[in-house]
Amino acid sequence: MRCKICGAKLRKEGDICKSCYEEYCKEESLDKDTNEIFKLYRQYLPKYQLTRFFDFYIVMLLLIMVAVAQKSIGLTLLFILVAVVGVIIALVISKKIAENTTCTFYEKKVVHRYKKKTKTIAYSDLKNVTYYQNFFQKIFKLGDIQFRPEVGTYLITGFEIKNVPDIENNWAKIQEILGAEKED
Ligand SMILES: [Zn+2]
Repeated sequence: MRCKICGAKLRKEGDICKSCYEEYCKEESLDKDTNEIFKLYRQYLPKYQLTRFFDFYIVMLLLIMVAVAQKSIGLTLLFILVAVVGVIIALVISKKIAENTTCTFYEKKVVHRYKKKTKTIAYSDLKNVTYYQNFFQKIFKLGDIQFRPEVGTYLITGFEIKNVPDIENNWAKIQEILGAEKED
């Protein structure tokens, strides 16, 4: 007799092996864990977002300078329009992303949600959690938090929530939740 899930040979009567059964129990207990402890949001902060387009500003400024040097009013206005519209589109996109992103801590797991896409890591599978700040994020007290799982690659099973506001306090809260989890 073989396990219906992994195909391992079974010593006793049954449908699935011990390790698949344990895996199943773990998944079931994670599914049942719906008690929200804490939630992180991604903040949309226009003044921070505006610091992120320097390359674009420089390119547009050069194009505008060329148009001015050519004494072409039409081209100058066109490049100014492109610059303004480009920045507005980028701001709208980052606002939409921020509104649709959350990271929720439950009793046994942490779940990242973007619209209907979710990624879940059980605390027992969590290898480490780190946060990063660039120069401007530091000024605005924002931070990017990365969750790395014990198994699998970060890109596939891990996740990140960017621009978490009030990063120092939120980071302390996360340490508290994960620290408390590791003790028992
Ligand atoms: Zn199995």
